[in-house]
Amino acid sequence: MNYIIIQVTDFHQNCCIIWCPVTLHAAIIDPGGEHQKIINNISKYKLFVKKILITHGHLDHIGSAYILSNIYKIPILGPHKKDIFWTKNTNFQKNIFQIPNCIFKKNQWLKNNDQIIIGNILLKVYHCPGHTPGHIIFFNKLSSILFSGDIIFKQNIGRTDLPLSNYKDLIDSIKNIIFPLGNNITVVPGHGPVTTIGFEKLNNPFL
Ligand SMILES: [Zn+2]
Ligand SMILES: [Zn+2]
Repeated sequence: MNYIIIQVTDFHQNCCIIWCPVTLHAAIIDPGGEHQKIINNISKYKLFVKKILITHGHLDHIGSAYILSNIYKIPILGPHKKDIFWTKNTNFQKNIFQIPNCIFKKNQWLKNNDQIIIGNILLKVYHCPGHTPGHIIFFNKLSSILFSGDIIFKQNIGRTDLPLSNYKDLIDSIKNIIFPLGNNITVVPGHGPVTTIGFEKLNNPFL
């Protein structure tokens, strides 16, 4: 599996484009904004984009999803339906996060253990509540890569001071779902640098 990270929005959100090197079929994970930047990269690598994947309903992760789904005529998959509070209330989010509002609709909810195929790539979905109630993560076992959204970052963890956040759920998600995936797993978080599960077990001061 190939991937690139494109930083979007004032929050430097890591929008990822992942693709199968054989078929060039691609998916966009968390297109939070700046859709033209995302389109330029899809054109640059001559990719056939098939799906938009969403980890959770915060505006810095969903901001360009609807517009890109219309441009490429592709479905939006995710997050888990427990994030409906966030996906329905983008106007409320605009005031909290101070970034432009967006339309977000026609998504298909995902649930724990769902599998997503992009070319020859298989992604497994895990429901990881805490930062938001419907947060999910996407795991590619073959390449040992996890797209973790805002659950865990390099030497940091997701915020739990927002409406419907839950600190205990967040820690349980990290310890019971993410950590068992294995120390050698590369973690591509929603913000900041890439890390590994092994590094975070030893060096994350919040865990
Ligand atoms: Zn978030
Ligand atoms: Zn975020």
